[in-house]
Amino acid sequence: MSKSAKKPGPNLQHAIDFATNAHQGQKRQSGDDYISHPLAVMQILEDWRMDDDTIVAGVLHDVLEDTPITLDDLKTEFGESVAFLVDGVTKLGRTRSGMRDLDTYLPSTKDNLLRLLVATGTDIRVLIIKLADRLHNLRTLSALPPDKQKKIAKESLEIFAPLADRLNMGRLRVEMSDIAFSYVNPKRYQELSNLIDKYNQSAEKSMKKVEKEVAELLGREKIKFYITGRIKSVYSLHKKLLKHSGNMGEIYDLTALRVIVDDITDCYLALGLIHSLYTPMSGRIKDYIAVPKQNGYQSIHTTVITPDKRIVEFQIRTREMHEYAERGLAASFYYNEQKLTENYRTGKIQHLPTSLLWITELQSTAAKLRAGKKVDLKKLKLNLFADKIFVYTPKGDIIDLPKGSLPLDFAYRLHSEIGGHVAGVKINGKMSSLNKKLEHGDVVEILTSKKQTAKASWLDKVITPHARGKLKSQLAKLPQKIIKPPKKK
Ligand code: MN
Repeated sequence: MSKSAKKPGPNLQHAIDFATNAHQGQKRQSGDDYISHPLAVMQILEDWRMDDDTIVAGVLHDVLEDTPITLDDLKTEFGESVAFLVDGVTKLGRTRSGMRDLDTYLPSTKDNLLRLLVATGTDIRVLIIKLADRLHNLRTLSALPPDKQKKIAKESLEIFAPLADRLNMGRLRVEMSDIAFSYVNPKRYQELSNLIDKYNQSAEKSMKKVEKEVAELLGREKIKFYITGRIKSVYSLHKKLLKHSGNMGEIYDLTALRVIVDDITDCYLALGLIHSLYTPMSGRIKDYIAVPKQNGYQSIHTTVITPDKRIVEFQIRTREMHEYAERGLAASFYYNEQKLTENYRTGKIQHLPTSLLWITELQSTAAKLRAGKKVDLKKLKLNLFADKIFVYTPKGDIIDLPKGSLPLDFAYRLHSEIGGHVAGVKINGKMSSLNKKLEHGDVVEILTSKKQTAKASWLDKVITPHARGKLKSQLAKLPQKIIKPPKKK
């Protein structure tokens, strides 16, 4: 399974020996030695290129639950950080075991997801170990009795795959949801999977031709690139068909070609060149580079019609975007490994891509909860799961806000000094009212004036608690004369 033949470091080897010992004599349902499972989880985390502590914790993730080993043992043997992670994974398991009855569990998925997330506390790596654990359990699901298979598969579809999506771990989401779907609805899975195979076979020749034509043109224009085919996952086809009442004619992305280039300029150049070769379908160009998806996914999508009437979707992106689309949060760990690892134990809030700021929000809430402070989970749930919008500063910085936010929410989010001196707002270059709801993708420019100060009437023009709080404290500090009734004209 492993592509990397990296020899385990001393700590990892110690963990392997330690876990092998602890699980001695235990078997999985398949009859394999239990240790095969934690080792497989370790392998998955290595493939995701997670940091050393996470990999070590992956090996040890079941010892607290299933063996006499204690948390103190782990601290002594492997240090605070690893012990903290294993403890987190164990607690996560316990949160879920209170929800044994899936019929009542799944309808309130979001609540449970929230509880799962809060239970992971400050360290999102706990969640990543849990996802690796779940992935391996899915890969080996055939060993379990049918009723258990269904339950785990359903839970994976409803909770873990969406979570992977939330973290933009595209490859994981696809594998999890396809395995899970094959257990939840084996007949449909088989049907659709055959359909995809058949389609791909019939399309193969013309796809090869398209690939060649595009490659030649890009090469002539001196663009560095590589092209890969992308096969639609069974589960995403299923979901799309549900949306289009089963009409295959509405599915345009059964076959897609990914064009991976060096930089953003080349993305747009490639788009133009592809459109010079084939007719783009109107309304099917999506620029997720300028306006990324909520989970941070970036790419340009366009659907074209070839001369032999094939419909092909192109996905154009840079290498970094590609890496991030496939591995999501795990990819950003790889790039920030040192900083992140350091921050966990000290409890500092970690630095994440803007698109994953919801995790930061979650972390600070979890910290409040742990400190015994009262937190209104209803509000958190709204902030976490209510749709967010992403808007832009004129310089192109992305600011995420809850849906329904107004220009003053944006202004206070930039800085309370800016908020306190708002004289007007331009949305997409046009002067707008402070009552205008912001839309996903808007470019918002705040005009300020030193003479302008906060007004009480603005309290009706903010929806975020942050802006309201700042505004109130500014109002309280204002000199009396401004609050006096205006003089008669
Ligand atoms: Mn496990």
